[in-house]
Amino acid sequence: MAKIPFNIPYFVGTELTYMSHTIAGTKISGDGVFTKKCHDFFEKKYDFKKVLLTTSCTDALELAAILLDIKEGDEIIAPSYTFVSTVNAFILRGAKIVFCDSLEQNPNIDVAQIEKQITPKTKAIVPVHYAGIACDMDSIMLLADKYNLFVVEDAAQAIDSFYKNKPLGSIGHLAAFSFHETKNIIAGEGGMLAINDDRFLQRAEIIREKGTNRSQFFRGEVDKYGWVDMGSSFLPSDMIAAFLYAQLEQIDAIQNKRKQIWDTYYNRLQVLQNKGVQLPYLPQGTTNNAHMFYLVCRSLQERSELIHFLKEKNIQAVFHYLSLHKSEYYKEKHDGRVLPQTDRYTDCLLRLPFYPNLTTEQVQLIAQAILEFYDLL
Ligand SMILES: *Cc1c(COP(=O)(O)O)cnc(C)c1O
Repeated sequence: MAKIPFNIPYFVGTELTYMSHTIAGTKISGDGVFTKKCHDFFEKKYDFKKVLLTTSCTDALELAAILLDIKEGDEIIAPSYTFVSTVNAFILRGAKIVFCDSLEQNPNIDVAQIEKQITPKTKAIVPVHYAGIACDMDSIMLLADKYNLFVVEDAAQAIDSFYKNKPLGSIGHLAAFSFHETKNIIAGEGGMLAINDDRFLQRAEIIREKGTNRSQFFRGEVDKYGWVDMGSSFLPSDMIAAFLYAQLEQIDAIQNKRKQIWDTYYNRLQVLQNKGVQLPYLPQGTTNNAHMFYLVCRSLQERSELIHFLKEKNIQAVFHYLSLHKSEYYKEKHDGRVLPQTDRYTDCLLRLPFYPNLTTEQVQLIAQAILEFYDLL
């Protein structure tokens, strides 16, 4: 049987055409025609106050950390079960990360644990919408109000997903998205910062443009541009934006394909819950953007055996994050609290192949193999 890999990037077919338009137009640097089209698309479709394309979600998070004036001694509350970029952005500014455990029902941050960790030094909460499923944003925003904290949503996986009818990435003060080739909408490498608080609108574009007011200059708002703040180069080439725009035009079709795959997996594998294997859980008011399909096995050994069993059948299933509070870089800096759910997801969570061109037959085959492994056929 042909190998079923974990991911195959999906191309809609118009990416190269649009990229060639940028070359024909002789402007291939950042903030060109296609960047503007992408910005308009997001601001219209998802109601973000303002968005700025960046070269990655990592960069969008770094831009956010500069924007919030994070400095040495500040504390940031984030889940430990996440990608390193969620917290690296704040580490780079000298902050300390205070990790919280995940929920038992899904890998999102357990909001009930956040308040105990808030100190006078706390500056921001960084929730991660794991698998595109929303964190408990009402509670997080209430805490932020109560203690005067900022919220930066790590919405890397969360495009086109909603919380109580609000798009993810539109709720926190700032939010970061990814267009890495493993995400729903791709540009190879790419990202975006959504800015939902007026206070940050002007400074965000300055920091993204090397600390200059070049964006205002191009809009004719100032008659020359110069160095007005600290900054870096966070804007992608318009060729990347052209690629991304081709994908965005097809977002509904891409999402439909992904949701179909997700539903097929879910329907076929629901029965695993009788054996104590956990499936994705969507709290009330959240939607599913079909970013990922995962199982949570009952033990590390079971997961290793299942990975091996599937590999023998040419199916590539992969585990995910390793607890950041136990990482080589951070274990000495962590305050020693045990985070049992984080460790359980580290050991037991398994992601199944997921990409738009995965056929229903292939999904059935993968599900069949898993049911066989659990003696459920
Ligand atoms: C993919 C991902 C990132 C990083 O995105 P890049 O665009 O590769 O920088 C950050 N956080 C989470 C939760 C992710 O899944």
